[in-house]
Amino acid sequence: MCAESGPAAPAVSLYIHVPFCRAKCRYCAFFSQPRREGALEAYVPLLLEELALWAARLGRLAVPTVFFGGGTPSLLSPQDLERIMGALRRHFDLAPEAEITLEANPESASLDFLRAARSLGVNRLSLGVQSFRDEELALLGRPHTARQAWEALTRARSAGFANISLDLIWGLPGQRESQWLETLRRAVELAPEHLSCYGLSLEPGTPLAEAPEEERALPPERELAHMFLHTGELLEGAGYLQYEISNYARLGQACRHNQACWEGRDYLGLGPAATSTLGALRWTNPEDLRAWTELVQTRRIGLHQRETLSPEIRAQERLMLALRTTRGLDLAEFRSLSGQSLLHSHAAIIQALRQKELVRLGKGRLRLTRTGMLVSSSIIRALGFEEGEP
Ligand code: SF4
Repeated sequence: MCAESGPAAPAVSLYIHVPFCRAKCRYCAFFSQPRREGALEAYVPLLLEELALWAARLGRLAVPTVFFGGGTPSLLSPQDLERIMGALRRHFDLAPEAEITLEANPESASLDFLRAARSLGVNRLSLGVQSFRDEELALLGRPHTARQAWEALTRARSAGFANISLDLIWGLPGQRESQWLETLRRAVELAPEHLSCYGLSLEPGTPLAEAPEEERALPPERELAHMFLHTGELLEGAGYLQYEISNYARLGQACRHNQACWEGRDYLGLGPAATSTLGALRWTNPEDLRAWTELVQTRRIGLHQRETLSPEIRAQERLMLALRTTRGLDLAEFRSLSGQSLLHSHAAIIQALRQKELVRLGKGRLRLTRTGMLVSSSIIRALGFEEGEP
């Protein structure tokens, strides 16, 4: 990321949102649409234009990480991916060791696509598996089976991917802990380098959230707590380190892109619905293909939902994101950002949380214990910040 001599070049992580999927999953609240004829063909040139506009405005920035998210980026054709990667290399300083992640879905990750992605420099694959039980995949409305997920991982290995992450979801309606652990064990057997395990949240307006009560009833709190705690134990026993509430990796294989975002570094988001944060400025592209198209064509990039983050908000966000990670919050950094010492301003709360073994203090950092992670939202609220507020 840094030049060998002289000051470090400004660096920015890039996020590229590909807003199309084969079909909409029943739990999904991300901005993505079922792919229509010609949609990707219209999207890619605009994305390239947006990229060029930013490069003209910001200059040739160092890019330590790129993340193709969605949506389903594995719906891109190899030719489209080649055009995007070519533009990235033309406009930005993409170091040879840059981490380049692409999210893929089992049903659309063909061997040809995976080989092309690997040869174009994509070196990390995040595979949306969610469950290794077909009845759970059907409940979620996923367009693939457990077997297809297993086959996609095998194809990814033969295409040369040495850094693969599997996305899984626990806490599904009607799910028993033993069923979740069965999925988790099958995932471990496949030896991915990284696992993301998210608890299902029923997002208002999604088909699953609107389903009849008996279809959407989540497991009881106590069972959910066991699922979370036993996930950590099982994965640690298998050699994965938890580095964030929902993320586990083999040593040295944590996702650098997400870590950069959690550490409050700059990131530039391209494509509809993508958010960017550069210093104290934040903006979010429209969650609408037509509005995003107009924004790019009229060169009004960076203006939609634009805000200047106050020092208080930036400090609160640092606290919220840092407490989700196992490194925890650097108290000196928080003091210099906020102008206040958390240990003084929240002494009684922190003391109470320590007594309940929900947080730990050490080496100038405040960390949540694994039990504390179970109630992270309440702890963050107790420390004076509503999670998700800004
Ligand atoms: S594949 Fe991912 S982004 Fe697409 S609908 Fe399903 S959950 Fe949403």
